[in-house]
Amino acid sequence: MLCLMQTISNIRKLLDERGLRPKHRLGQNFLHDQNQIRILVDAAGIVHGELVLEIGPGTGTLTEALLEAGAEVIASEIDHNLADLLADLLGDRITLLRGDCLDRGRTLNPAIIDHLGDRSFKLVANLPYNVASPLMAAMLIDHPNCTGQFVTIQKEVADRLLAKPGGKDYGPLGIIIQALAEVRRIGTVPPSCFWPQPKVTSAMVSLLPSPPGRGAGGEGEPTIISRDDARSFAQFVTNLFSKRRKQLGTIFGRDRTWPAGVAAEMRPGRLSIEQLIELWCSDPE
Ligand code: SAM
Repeated sequence: MLCLMQTISNIRKLLDERGLRPKHRLGQNFLHDQNQIRILVDAAGIVHGELVLEIGPGTGTLTEALLEAGAEVIASEIDHNLADLLADLLGDRITLLRGDCLDRGRTLNPAIIDHLGDRSFKLVANLPYNVASPLMAAMLIDHPNCTGQFVTIQKEVADRLLAKPGGKDYGPLGIIIQALAEVRRIGTVPPSCFWPQPKVTSAMVSLLPSPPGRGAGGEGEPTIISRDDARSFAQFVTNLFSKRRKQLGTIFGRDRTWPAGVAAEMRPGRLSIEQLIELWCSDPE
């Protein structure tokens, strides 16, 4: 059976028929606003036959729109009841993988990697809040075949991804992601677009991987880091921001040469990504 354009009452009915209720711990807030779904699918710019990985298809609202756009969908769902429901609705049109999309909370589940093979793909998803950050980072670091991510996440996380130096949201997550990708806000999604309504506002963002390279943004140099260096840079930034209230001179010692525009009295949260990369490149540790 194909159930196009799921409304709140369709979604409730689909769950009621199976005696199911949305599970808060799995971030089950179903996106029923068709305009928002359309905006996300349009932003992904899917061409016919393109491979799309969807994490957490739930009752399949977004999945249906992806299929309509001509995508070949691999979907990963942790909730076996929802996976059964989706198998009945769309099972013959998608590759449905059951289980946690993450392995040990950090890397993509090997079963998903096997199914993706070496093909290029996009990630398009209304992400469960508990996997969003590690998943987006793992995609950029470990999966060069992922040509773009188009996701709905909590607005607070989107603000951190887009944060600039000196702001309250600027920290390791945004720095690491911005060092690897161009991040754009597609739009804001109010709680009323979901059922049940979450307590917080959501946002749609796109992450387009930057071309590989390593450097400090000097003339002719990229401002980004390579995937090979990403975990080491991430560790450096995380350690540094655990001392974010301290001055750089206290952290690194005052007897050293600083990158251009950096001084011993500055605190980590004032440094641009380029300056952080330069500091990391020159860090003896
Ligand atoms: N795509 C649907 C939509 O837009 O209405 C549902 C999105 S809902 C925010 C998140 C979905 O992710 C739920 O179906 C939930 O069961 C699933 N999920 C939660 N944690 C997961 C995990 N670790 N791996 C795979 N799916 C997960």
